[in-house]
Amino acid sequence: MSAKIIDGKKVSALTRDEVRQDVEDWMEAGNRAPFLQVVLIGNDPASDVYVGAKTRACKEVGIETDTMRLPDTISAKELKNTINKLNNDDSVDGILVQLPLPTHLSSHDVIESIDYRKDVDGFHPMNVGRLTVGQPSFQSCTPAGIFELLKHYSIPTKGKHAVVVGASNIVGRPVSILLSREESIGKATTTICHKYTKDLTQHTISADILVVAAGQPSLIRGEMVKEGVVVIDVGINRVADENKDKGYSLVGDCHFESVKEKASWITPVPGGVGPMTVAMLMKNTLLAAKKSIYPE
Ligand code: NAD
Repeated sequence: MSAKIIDGKKVSALTRDEVRQDVEDWMEAGNRAPFLQVVLIGNDPASDVYVGAKTRACKEVGIETDTMRLPDTISAKELKNTINKLNNDDSVDGILVQLPLPTHLSSHDVIESIDYRKDVDGFHPMNVGRLTVGQPSFQSCTPAGIFELLKHYSIPTKGKHAVVVGASNIVGRPVSILLSREESIGKATTTICHKYTKDLTQHTISADILVVAAGQPSLIRGEMVKEGVVVIDVGINRVADENKDKGYSLVGDCHFESVKEKASWITPVPGGVGPMTVAMLMKNTLLAAKKSIYPE
């Protein structure tokens, strides 16, 4: 078997088209454009790239955006005051603080200081808690993007064994919660693995759906999965590549060549989950502007 490709670029373009149309309708109805405030602390080059992709997508769909650049010397108190001002500013619909933060700042404290009604990343404990109990919430963008892909390709999850490798708060754990919920999409028997899991293969080999978000290139190889598995590779890793002008290539957490021979469906890296994350951020920002999740 050679897997069919789950085309994140295509589905992301469709999602962004939908959002663009919805933004147009929203503004034609007399509302102002949605506004996303990005907060970027320090000079991490990868964060610059991610923020660039997000602001370009905003422009494309008609969402206004601004990037507030703050020095990596900012104190926790100063940052909290800045976020508070944004929380109280009615012209700001969504607030995104780009992670990772400089080490002297606690991401838990910073995320919790954002008004959960403007938390378009879906990282605030209020949103995570509501997601866990099946209440309307901002869903974090990467897990929501994965579900959009499964929906688009009509890949069933009900009754399947889903294995998630990686247990971070922003990807692995929320994906495992969504998969295990007894909601319209979900209903999977879910196993979550992490770096302390003994004998990873024992789990991955029995997966009908395998989501990998570990940040380890080639962690999953063909011999670790069963025939017909659906593979969602979330990892984005830079590996040295002298054939590329940049000097590196982007690869996922799966050894694509061997895994694709066993899988029925697979997301490529790049061009799989990554573009969906940005598209779902656009969707969340529009929901925030419309106050759809938390009506006043
Ligand atoms: P993280 O470092 O916060 O968490 C990694 C998780 O993987 C941890 O739970 C850890 O225990 C587990 N892990 C690490 N090594 C392991 C191993 N050998 N076996 C089993 N589990 C292992 O990472 P994250 O923020 O969740 O990101 C994971 C990957 O996904 C990274 O490559 C990141 O760049 C990528 N990512 C992609 C997107 C996207 O839009 N496509 C979004 C977020 C993160």
